Amino acid sequence: MRIVSGMRPTGKLHLGHYLGVLQNWVKLQNEHECFFFVADWHALSTSYEDKLNLKHLSIELVRDWIAAGIDPTKATLFIQSAIKEHAELYVLLNMITPLGWLERNPTYKDQLAQIKNKDIHTAGFLTYPVLQTADIILYDAEAVPIGEDQRPHLEIAREIVRRFHHLFLCEVFTEPKELLSPVPRLLGLDGRKMSKSYNNAIYLSDTSEEVWQKIRTAKTDPQRVKRSDPGNPEVCLIYDYHKAFSDEEIIKKVEEGCRSAAIGCVECKKWCAASIEKVLEPMRERRQSVSDEDIAIILQKGEEKAKEIAGKKMERVNKAIFELQCKDHT
Ligand code: SF4
Repeated sequence: MRIVSGMRPTGKLHLGHYLGVLQNWVKLQNEHECFFFVADWHALSTSYEDKLNLKHLSIELVRDWIAAGIDPTKATLFIQSAIKEHAELYVLLNMITPLGWLERNPTYKDQLAQIKNKDIHTAGFLTYPVLQTADIILYDAEAVPIGEDQRPHLEIAREIVRRFHHLFLCEVFTEPKELLSPVPRLLGLDGRKMSKSYNNAIYLSDTSEEVWQKIRTAKTDPQRVKRSDPGNPEVCLIYDYHKAFSDEEIIKKVEEGCRSAAIGCVECKKWCAASIEKVLEPMRERRQSVSDEDIAIILQKGEEKAKEIAGKKMERVNKAIFELQCKDHT
């Protein structure tokens, strides 16, 4: 299968991103033809006022991907804004997308209601799913790995494809399927949603010292005041991290040792940090081994490949729209 997925460059990636998205991408790249891109235009839709250095953020995002195990010899990596065909297709799709589809989009409505610190009453934000549709169908992606919040966007993509085929009497595109990855939710170390703005996340680029400081100072079961007080792992975030990163044997030791006060929290946290290190240490090595120049070359190659597919697709699309000439893709 051909798979396309994108990520917005909004800052360094943390363990939540790894569990929720990257781990899945790493698996998919071995089984399918994958295109992973940096959605820098999408980032602008909510951050146009933030004066972000999107170029820098995009490159750092790719560095995080490679550190996490995305292999540029297997997957094609590129930056969205380098492939102008995304914008070209977006313009054309906007012409045929009914406003109602966009205004009814539940993800859009949720975000309008939730995001208060930015003005997202813009055409770009409303039409976010149209750009996302272009990203996907430009490459005839058969499947798109997404989280729950992105389901309405994929539904819109499918509807736009059908509408295009109907209006221009030409089956140019592939209708993408969703690949819903069961996202294990990992909370930040203070029990809130893991986020840069709460400063409660462990980053893929953290040093072992930083990881340990964050784990060491995290709150545990408040009932365990003294070392001899038995605890309840179910109310402790450290236990969640064990469940996400430790093997069965350690999880069992923590569960029993916590309830019986056979282990102390410091000991438990040391095991926890060690389990996280098992994931992060290989990432540090990979990060070390890829230079800025390597990343530039990786992106250049990825962009060449993406550009070739996207360019051919746009020829077809333009023929269908402007010359009423259909050359079906199947
Ligand atoms: Fe949390 Fe571990 Fe302490 Fe139990 S022993 S309260 S699971 S840190």
